[in-house]
Amino acid sequence: MNLHEYQGKELLKRFGVAIQEGIVATNLDEAVDAWKTIRETTGTDFVVVKAQIHAGGRGKGGGVKLAKNLDQLKEHAGNIIGMMLKTPQTPGGMDGQGKLVRKVLVTEDSYRPDFNACKEYYMSILMDRERKCNVIIYSTEGGMDIEKVAEETPHLLHKEYIDAELGLQAFQCRKIAFNLGLSGAAFKNMVRFVEKLYAAFIGADASLFEINPVLKTADDRIIAVDSKVSIDDNALYRHPDLEAMADTDEEDPTEVEAKSHDLNYVKLDGNVGCMVNGAGLAMATMDIIKLSGGEPANFLDVGGTADANRVEKAFRIILKDPAVKAILINIFGGIVRCDRVAQGVVDAYKNMGNINVPIIVRLQGTNADLAKKSLTSQV
Ligand code: GDP
Ligand code: MN
Repeated sequence: MNLHEYQGKELLKRFGVAIQEGIVATNLDEAVDAWKTIRETTGTDFVVVKAQIHAGGRGKGGGVKLAKNLDQLKEHAGNIIGMMLKTPQTPGGMDGQGKLVRKVLVTEDSYRPDFNACKEYYMSILMDRERKCNVIIYSTEGGMDIEKVAEETPHLLHKEYIDAELGLQAFQCRKIAFNLGLSGAAFKNMVRFVEKLYAAFIGADASLFEINPVLKTADDRIIAVDSKVSIDDNALYRHPDLEAMADTDEEDPTEVEAKSHDLNYVKLDGNVGCMVNGAGLAMATMDIIKLSGGEPANFLDVGGTADANRVEKAFRIILKDPAVKAILINIFGGIVRCDRVAQGVVDAYKNMGNINVPIIVRLQGTNADLAKKSLTSQV
């Protein structure tokens, strides 16, 4: 599950990570109030208005703007709230339709009072699957495309692997601060920043933290100016407060609907819709489709109880995708009885009435013969 920048920062702050402070606004009045509050605490008229959508590269698309006074704040907030923001990461990229901005984060201008004395770094934490441990990736080349840094100047990208048993060690934090070329107060603050950041990553059961930029301010503080945070879905039951941060406006609507019916659905780019019981069989079915030269339109595990109700919901979800040209139902009757599933398919098919793509059904296992009879006699 992905968090918005402002939610990620809220989480970081809870774990003691220093952040660029800000206030969320959903309309112009709230943005003006935020500006006033920030002016009281910082003593300047400068604020930054940042679009809150689940995509990076917002700065490039005009979704991050510095306002130097109230008029500019109104102008930027007015433009950004409600805009369709295109970034390299929104669907279709810079040529796509973009994503609707419903909220902005109004933040302090962390680069004051001396922009040139500031320095941007890159830092992310994720799991390295090959090494089977977490890794902190960091670089002096913050603020810009990290993909470009990785491609053109890979030696500027450092990795620190963390032993799962020992956890992050103090010497590793110092090594990171050293490799980033820091000294004095900034060095100490970076050590503390990395410690807290890693504690937050573990404490929140996150699967990804990407902080770009991490900023060294003119007075040598180290703060998170941006935050991209993903929480491991399988751990959400331990974090109801984080689960409550889910923004369904940002997710694929069909996946949201499937989730509400406890169906495991992931949309893919092909045209063969799949309805399968069991995640393993669903994966194998997708492999078979590919092996035969087709492309699956989705992953869908209808679970152990494929009754008429679930089958109908699954049909509806699969058919929401206009790319679907055929549906392959692949059910193995281990605990579930195939004749029940067959009846479910027939009932759902009749209930829906308007299915105009071919449906190929394979039922194997308990009562498969009965299922076959039931299908051939009723359809
Ligand atoms: P992204 O484009 O989606 O990655 O959004 P970021 O939060 O990283 O902001 C993009 C860029 O805006 C940063 O790399 C900074 O250069 C700039 N920026 C962000 N916050 C501030 C700020 O407080 N003051 C100034 N002057 N620039 C900022
Ligand atoms: Mn960023």
